[in-house]
Amino acid sequence: MPEFTAPVMPDALLEKLKGCKTLPSLPIIALKIIELARSPSAGTSDLAELIASDPSLSAKILSAANSVFYGSDEHSSLQHAINRMGMDSALSLALSFGLTRHSKQKRNGMCLDTFWKRSVISGMVVREVKKQLNLKFDVETTFLAAIIQDIGMLALNELDPDIYGVIFHSSRSHRQLASFEEREYGTCHLHVGYWLGTLWGLPEKYTRLIASSHQMAKKIPASATTEKVLALSGLLADPWVSDNQEMAMTLAYQASQDYLGMDEQQFSHLLLGIQDKLPEVTKLFEISAPAKIDTYNLLQEAKQLLVERNLRMMQKLEKQQREIDELRKNSEKLKEQLKKDPLTGIFNRQFTEKKLNKYFATMPSIDNCLAVVFIDLDFFKTINDQYGHALGDAALRAFASTLEQELDVGCMAGRYGGEEFVVLMPGYSQEKALIFAKRLQEHLAITPLLSHNKEDIYISASMGLAVHDLREPNNPDQQFEDADSLVKAADQAMYSAKRTGRNRILLYTSKGFQDISSTKP
Ligand code: GH3
Ligand code: MG
Ligand code: MG
Repeated sequence: MPEFTAPVMPDALLEKLKGCKTLPSLPIIALKIIELARSPSAGTSDLAELIASDPSLSAKILSAANSVFYGSDEHSSLQHAINRMGMDSALSLALSFGLTRHSKQKRNGMCLDTFWKRSVISGMVVREVKKQLNLKFDVETTFLAAIIQDIGMLALNELDPDIYGVIFHSSRSHRQLASFEEREYGTCHLHVGYWLGTLWGLPEKYTRLIASSHQMAKKIPASATTEKVLALSGLLADPWVSDNQEMAMTLAYQASQDYLGMDEQQFSHLLLGIQDKLPEVTKLFEISAPAKIDTYNLLQEAKQLLVERNLRMMQKLEKQQREIDELRKNSEKLKEQLKKDPLTGIFNRQFTEKKLNKYFATMPSIDNCLAVVFIDLDFFKTINDQYGHALGDAALRAFASTLEQELDVGCMAGRYGGEEFVVLMPGYSQEKALIFAKRLQEHLAITPLLSHNKEDIYISASMGLAVHDLREPNNPDQQFEDADSLVKAADQAMYSAKRTGRNRILLYTSKGFQDISSTKP
């Protein structure tokens, strides 16, 4: 049996229930049967004796034994009938008759006739499922549990019939009824039913089943067939009792697939099997027979509704998927933007520093060396002063794209400050890094960054180069503690290039800076 925690009801409701003088009670005979059911030593003759003391119950058991429920063999005596059907069947039948003797008429409140119809048909569903699908489960226990699964409704109806009548008549489905009850009482009829069943002394296997009779299919363990059949039973009874037959049939058909994986033919045979037995069984339980339903046409409509609903759900899901894709794209765009300098479109300082630290930390895997070139444009302020800031901006953009063009694969460039840029060259030795710096310097010397009123504007740069090389452990010029000191060294070399005239490339060494420019001003 699946895990079970006894339901707890709100205190206020519990007090009211305890104080209710008209709570449904059991006929003496039912109480006696329950007592008998609790006794492990009780046998069929004890039960027969007990039932025989109640003539109307005896007559019912006998006719049930000879009826649709237990085949058509003629059982002459009560003892014979009970012996043939077995103790469990006889007990559940006797109890179900005993329990359904409750008044079936009341002026206000819920419709008791509908209630008992649903409960008896639920029991029929259990028997019919057993007969047609041949599933392994305890049919007698499930049969009785199905019949009494909603007894909590009787109790709620007694508390205040006017309120409960509104709840009962305004709900469009049984599940909606339970949610309306939750709203009104802070609990639903399942929990009240568990409480009432316990009060009556019903064995726990029944009260537990009452409490879990609304479980969703996916929450029920695969092997718990009793729970599945029970949860399905009420939904399958609804097409005969609901005001909205189409909706009830749609829910029933869907549930038959969800709970028991039934196909259309199995479902339809099940409905027909129940429908055929309805007149006889309802007579047995002394309730009015529900009107016949047009199972064939209702099922066709249910199928149509399900297709439409699935289509709508698919469309909704597709729309959500598109929105998710869009959001994903946007967040990737945003992430990309976080790395970029908005003016030039190349990487910003934060991202450049992050990469620098990463390269430094993973140096052995990148050919043991890392070169950094620090670049500062020369006399940039005068460009702004002379041509305006817009042109200054254009010049920065032009320089950034020149940098990217000249960059080798595997290297990266970032804007470090206003007119400061840093180039990271993982795996580059001093010689290889120099080749790049000189190429850039020459490019700037012969290619105007942009033109203004037909005037070509050339801008030179001062560059500082520092290299960390693991293969030169004894060379202090190429040994740095961390990424920060490496970039600082390149910055100092650049600064020195400024002081010594600009448009130069200076290499950091431990003893000072070495000019390695290809062109001198
Ligand atoms: P130096 O050769 O010594 O580097 O001279 P400089 O004029 O380039 O250097 P300085 O540090 O004195 O001035 C930097 C100038 O760069 C001043 C500032 O207005 C300009 N600048 C910084 N960021 C931007 C920007 O985003 N757009 C524009 N148009 N100009 C900028
Ligand atoms: Mg500057
Ligand atoms: Mg400058």
